[in-house]
Amino acid sequence: MDRNFDFTGFDSTRFDTMSFDAVYYEPAALDYELGKMLRVKYADLPWLPIENHNRIPELTAAANRDFPKLKRHLIVGLRKTHKYMPNHKVSDWLVPYTSSGCRAMCLYCYLVCNYNKCSYLRLFVNRRQMLDRLLKKDAGSLVPQTFEIGSNSDLVLENTITDNLHYTIERFAREGRGNLTFPTKFHMVGPLLSLDHRGKTIFRMSVNPREIIRRIELGTSPLDLRIRGLNDMAAAGYPVGLLIAPVILLPDWQRLYGELIEQLADELSEKVKQEGFIEIILMTYSFVHDAINTEAFPNAVKLLNREAMTGRGRGKYCYRNELRGEAEAFLREKLARRLGTMPILYIS
Ligand code: SF4
Repeated sequence: MDRNFDFTGFDSTRFDTMSFDAVYYEPAALDYELGKMLRVKYADLPWLPIENHNRIPELTAAANRDFPKLKRHLIVGLRKTHKYMPNHKVSDWLVPYTSSGCRAMCLYCYLVCNYNKCSYLRLFVNRRQMLDRLLKKDAGSLVPQTFEIGSNSDLVLENTITDNLHYTIERFAREGRGNLTFPTKFHMVGPLLSLDHRGKTIFRMSVNPREIIRRIELGTSPLDLRIRGLNDMAAAGYPVGLLIAPVILLPDWQRLYGELIEQLADELSEKVKQEGFIEIILMTYSFVHDAINTEAFPNAVKLLNREAMTGRGRGKYCYRNELRGEAEAFLREKLARRLGTMPILYIS
């Protein structure tokens, strides 16, 4: 059996997030520097021309059980729509940026709601145009704004292929007034540590209990490496946050999240504890996730729990209010006791 698709044991550390088997590309992408670089980097793979990264009929027609195979394709194109959505959490705006979709396969991934089976990694090579637009919006605002650039993908993973964060962070540091921010579930922050960021990029590390990472966040970095990555980014002077998300209320959730908070308290640096903030998001799941996961990962943990969850429209489910209240009280109490210097910005 192909090593990448053997999830019998659900050990996400066995999953190679950098391997692809084919590149689907819009020919115009090869006119851009990044497109040319990718052409050389993946010269050994088949390159298949497409008209539009949003419509690849042979992939859209694939069965749900082929989800892991679809994730092995890399899509290269141009981002044509640049609509910013207002946001009211850490950022003011959600910005479509240099990628959408992801090579990893978290069983609850929010991108599946948008892209269904086709949530494979798409890289957009027109980064200058995207950052020009963002800087223009920043310059034209009455007060400096914060832009979330990682809501459509995981930019730390993407950066290992494109080096886009180097370009983005340093150019924004020189020309921007406000802040950029992005969350990640990956630890590969080495290339970011020496960048001239001028404190304008807020780095947020997403964490979950070890067991949840291994069995549910397939293909992402282990917890200890994520903690080290967050400590390193804080030491390099970046403003930082800790995102406990999504909180998944498995039958033994109190043990799992209690142990997570203990480990964070033991291993986070003093700098993170003194300067960092916390965000907490409880899991939202959907009918689409359930259909794909049931066929693609039949042995995986079942995340849809009709007793604990309730519908919230458009095929989505969230935890019932009583359970949410219980989880919120538990997390607030544990965090106050062990990480009391870090403000909780919100629990949603
Ligand atoms: S790392 Fe983030 S973007 Fe990638 S599959 Fe997991 S939740 Fe989705």
